[in-house]
Amino acid sequence: MNASVWADQGVSLSPPRTAVPNEADVVIIGAGYTGLHAARELAKRGRQVAVLEQGNIGDGASGLNFGSAALGVAAPYSSLSKRYGPAFARATAALSTRVLDDFCQFISVEQIKCDLQKTGHLTIALNQRQLTQLARSKATLDELVDNELVLISRQRLKEHLEIDSACGGLFNPNSYAINPVSYLQGLVKLAFRAGAGIFEGIKVQEVNRIGDKLFEVRCDGNTLRSRDVIVCTNGVLLPGFSPSARGIVPINSYLIATEVLSETAARNVGKPVFATAHLVPSYFRLTSDNRLLFGSRKNFAAEPLPSRDTKELVVRMHALLPFTRDLRVTHSWSGKLGFTFNRLPHVGVADGIYYAIGYCGKGIPWSAFCGIAVANLVADGVTPEPPIATPLIRRWFYNGSRGFLHPLSWYCRVVDRLS
Ligand SMILES: Cc1cc2nc3c(=O)[nH]c(=O)nc-3n(C[C@H](O)[C@H](O)[C@H](O)COP(=O)(O)OP(=O)(O)OC[C@H]3O[C@@H](n4cnc5c(N)ncnc54)[C@H](O)[C@@H]3O)c2cc1C
Repeated sequence: MNASVWADQGVSLSPPRTAVPNEADVVIIGAGYTGLHAARELAKRGRQVAVLEQGNIGDGASGLNFGSAALGVAAPYSSLSKRYGPAFARATAALSTRVLDDFCQFISVEQIKCDLQKTGHLTIALNQRQLTQLARSKATLDELVDNELVLISRQRLKEHLEIDSACGGLFNPNSYAINPVSYLQGLVKLAFRAGAGIFEGIKVQEVNRIGDKLFEVRCDGNTLRSRDVIVCTNGVLLPGFSPSARGIVPINSYLIATEVLSETAARNVGKPVFATAHLVPSYFRLTSDNRLLFGSRKNFAAEPLPSRDTKELVVRMHALLPFTRDLRVTHSWSGKLGFTFNRLPHVGVADGIYYAIGYCGKGIPWSAFCGIAVANLVADGVTPEPPIATPLIRRWFYNGSRGFLHPLSWYCRVVDRLS
């Protein structure tokens, strides 16, 4: 059991095969949501675009994720306020609303069939401390922007989900779910139709500058020359390119899916996307064919080990949702998130190479926005908006090796256990 529930749906993602060119106006590294959005925008403007994907389309997070398109960024607004000032936190909260609206509008205008549903998002507090914490986050957001978040009591929460351990929650009606792979398929088609070349099985090894105006992109078996290069590899580090190799911390996220629920059980879970209010939350939702998807992150530094990871997730699911004890788990998989040290997405340029990376688990809506933003930067020099243009923070203790995450995981586990 080591395959995603999406891989089983027979969605074909590969574009028609063509030969890799020797030259392009723009080479894009990575054919996930970000790379494909950027490719389409640039191809629409007449640029010759080559998107290079090391594996198959869908091998990255865009083909493996949980499918929740929610408001916000990974960084708490209180910490953004402290680090960059209240005006920055306000701008980020306002931009986040626009990013989500644009994302939904894009799917509707382009008629991408990806089961987009307004589900709402319910964060569940399992004790009074977590409920107080949720009330505090709501109060912080209330000071920044108008929002629809509502704190709900234990009793109201039970209208959404029968869960004994809960003592209340925070509900955000403005939240969505999609089928991530159908969305990816829609993007492949749009980028290809706009004229972008998309090439699978081409791993970029090195990007070198030759002269003032050209880059040489070296891959296994191919070398391309191009005026511009965009790195869209998110949680997969690109060695030698320091914003990726030193600025992104890959963290694995794990998911399981169960067999199809009975109608009664499915009705009891209902429509929302749920998450616990832990430092390392568990989250779950129903798919459109009524399977339960359940996910979490664990030791941040650990490499995936499917038998162990599945067991751990199943134990967590049974503890939180006792009715799942009778359900068969049919799929188990994991993928890499790309975290930044300030937990914001980043669009920028370093040594002449552009990048759009670092969504910290919020990449479904943000990758669309940042993919388009990096295309605007390349094509017209449009400066990205401040919340996505902060300098990528690097730390002396991080050069791609993730040992420092062990104590952090340990700390989160202790806090979550105690609560
Ligand atoms: C298990 C899981 C659950 C998630 N759940 C959610 C969620 O519910 N909501 C949400 O908003 N976000 C979620 N995310 C995050 C979201 O999926 C990502 O932020 C988003 O897909 C990033 O898209 P991307 O195109 O930037 O990167 P990716 O989709 O990772 O694409 C990068 C691509 O670059 C390719 N690549 C890397 N290096 C090279 C190279 N050297 N040469 C050529 N190609 C290369 C990779 O193979 C990959 O296909 C989740 C992620 C995971 C893993």
